[in-house]
Amino acid sequence: MTHVGILGGGQLARMMALAAVPMGIKVTVLDPNEDACAGVVADHIHAEYDDADALSKLASLSDVVTFEFENVPSEVAHALSDRCQVFPPPEALAVAQDRIKEKSLFCELGIPVSPFKPVESREDLDKGVAEIGLPCVLKTSRDGYDGKGQAVLKTDQDVEVAWMELGGRPLILEDFVEFKREVSVIAVRSQSGEIKAYALTENQHRKGMLAISMAPAKVSETSSEAHQYAARLLNHFNYVGVLAVEFFETDKGLLVNEMAPRVHNSGHWTQDGAEVCQFENHIRAILGWPLGETRSRGMTSMVNWIGVMPKPQHLLSIESLHWHDYGKAPRAGRKIGHVNLCAADLPALQQKLMVVGRVLSKQLEDGLDAFDV
Ligand code: AMP
Repeated sequence: MTHVGILGGGQLARMMALAAVPMGIKVTVLDPNEDACAGVVADHIHAEYDDADALSKLASLSDVVTFEFENVPSEVAHALSDRCQVFPPPEALAVAQDRIKEKSLFCELGIPVSPFKPVESREDLDKGVAEIGLPCVLKTSRDGYDGKGQAVLKTDQDVEVAWMELGGRPLILEDFVEFKREVSVIAVRSQSGEIKAYALTENQHRKGMLAISMAPAKVSETSSEAHQYAARLLNHFNYVGVLAVEFFETDKGLLVNEMAPRVHNSGHWTQDGAEVCQFENHIRAILGWPLGETRSRGMTSMVNWIGVMPKPQHLLSIESLHWHDYGKAPRAGRKIGHVNLCAADLPALQQKLMVVGRVLSKQLEDGLDAFDV
């Protein structure tokens, strides 16, 4: 039986397993968390990511090992690649783990980025602020996700406070981009080098976390370049699997924000809005199988449940609404599920989004208890 190993056992691993199992594939996840939510649909090796015995077991079980998040130590992925196939390439993981390396690569490949400066000392920060100008954004170069480890600097006092909070680690200072909208590309490359991409996705973030995605996004003059930039990155790494690239769209064109060498939250709409979803295509790619069609089926919007989740029975009567519950305990700021709303066109989709909005405000008025599942 074909066997896929995954480093990490959260919702992305769970959804990869949910796509893999119908194709007759067995999945094992390695995750230090006892109640890793992928454990319901996959075998679970309960161990730390640097546990040599556990890694050895995963390598011997699996035809190929992949990962579900960037913060898996890239040395672990490298070491595993001596024992079994590891996709996407650990080099892509190492670059994505370090915002400075990542932005430098974008520059090297001619993919436009906003001005940035590495910051290692208070002096670097002051110089960077003087050069880039306020407002700007200070971020930890490593280990940041979902808007964590970053601060928007608008005043001199913000600079002071942010340094106290984030100083002492490698940081990056970025220009604050006045974007018109945020878009992303989810693309997949096979072992033979074939590239397929999903329709451009428009994303709205709240407090640095993805809240809503919509696809296909309206394509503007400049946004059409997003797919070319994604392909450039895929070919650079001789990449295998799904890659997500996030962009800011500005009056002057696209600026890349970051890449994620894995399946991505802004691609969850593909589960119900594309012929073959990002999770299945990732699995197909890493196994050396032919890629599936990435064509969209009408329009889809994904709404994340963050911290709280309404009762499914309050929303399931909406036609073409698809419920995805990760089986995680609700906690403030934690992604615990999402819905995909599908419709033939934009007006019909907007109508459905309004109904979801009304149900949510009603439940909020009734008190948060109404959200307990
Ligand atoms: P990140 O973790 O870098 O993806 O940041 C999370 C979100 O914060 C982004 O999707 C944007 O909404 C916002 N953000 C991050 N960096 C910038 C920036 N340089 N200028 C404006 N907004 C930003």
